[in-house]
Amino acid sequence: MKVTLIKGDGIGPEICESMKQILKRLGSKIEFEEINAGASVFEKEGKFIPDELFESIKRNKIAIKGPITTPIGHGFRSINVELRKKFDLYQNIRPIKSISSIKTKYDNVDMIIFRENTEDLYMGIEEKISDDESHSIKVITRKKSQRIIKAAFEYARKFNRKKITIVTKANIMKLTDGLFLEVGREVSKDYPEIEFEELLVDNTAMQMVINPNKFDIIVTENLYGDILSDLGAGLVGGLGLIPGVNKGKDIAIYESVHGAALDIAGEDLANPTAMLLTSCLMLDDIEEKEKAKKLRETIEDVLKDKKNHTKDLGGSSSLSDFTKAIIDKIGE
Ligand code: NAD
Repeated sequence: MKVTLIKGDGIGPEICESMKQILKRLGSKIEFEEINAGASVFEKEGKFIPDELFESIKRNKIAIKGPITTPIGHGFRSINVELRKKFDLYQNIRPIKSISSIKTKYDNVDMIIFRENTEDLYMGIEEKISDDESHSIKVITRKKSQRIIKAAFEYARKFNRKKITIVTKANIMKLTDGLFLEVGREVSKDYPEIEFEELLVDNTAMQMVINPNKFDIIVTENLYGDILSDLGAGLVGGLGLIPGVNKGKDIAIYESVHGAALDIAGEDLANPTAMLLTSCLMLDDIEEKEKAKKLRETIEDVLKDKKNHTKDLGGSSSLSDFTKAIIDKIGE
């Protein structure tokens, strides 16, 4: 099975290498087709995303990527946004789950954020009115709201999740967020067995901190989803632990929530756990579920020993020592 691999920038190449070694040790059938995008490619080819990459993703239908830095001032909002747009990857799914061996203020957090990935303020429709005034247009449509909200409900039904919380600021943005909420109310009627809750985004942020266990699935717009998933990462131990996937009709690009972590890039300090858990989401979807299960259990096990904790978790393990600990454990 061929999968496109985009190693990305910053810590991307290091954590992707760790993932490759570990999947090989697990005996995964995946054959990686490596094609990069980003600043390093621009220097050589004058393009941030080579055509070859688009073709590879179209052919393989599955890609996994490390983080890519966003170039400033090249007529591009972001390479990540561009890839999501090109393949209409409208669902950004981010599971926020406690790892029992990582102690935080909260136990047993288990929520999934479904973030709309194609519209909202991220469409980049901005206008400079004068040196002292700029505008940004927020776009919310019925069709795109319906498909992400339906995806969240379908997921809940399939995986027996009990509750969906729709998050908006519909009391203030009555037309845009009001439409997203109205669609949510309509769609929820087709899923009577699933509890449906409406919350405002500010209240959601507070409740996630006070009692994250009350959340099951959150469905929300692009910007709120982006912010709430970083908040969620903070609840369970940080960005180094949270996986994610961007999905469209028949193409998926798997990527962790975190960015290129330029402050620690190339220093063998990054935590590859988020990347590994991201690869587990991919393994689940390509029918290598047993390997995903084994890898999740191995991560839990290896993290029980504090000597394997990387710096972001308060430890002093290097990325390569952590990788070796996982590989050794798989072999036991
Ligand atoms: P970031 O996620 O890169 O870093 C935030 C903090 O978390 C840093 O202190 C970093 O060291 C730490 N961190 C993140 N991931 C870590 C890991 N795996 N292990 C250990 N520590 C980790 O966010 P940022 O600094 O806002 O962004 C840096 C660059 O990454 C920017 O160019 C941004 O555009 C890009 N970015 C890319 C993506 C993506 O490709 N999907 C997502 C977010 C940001």
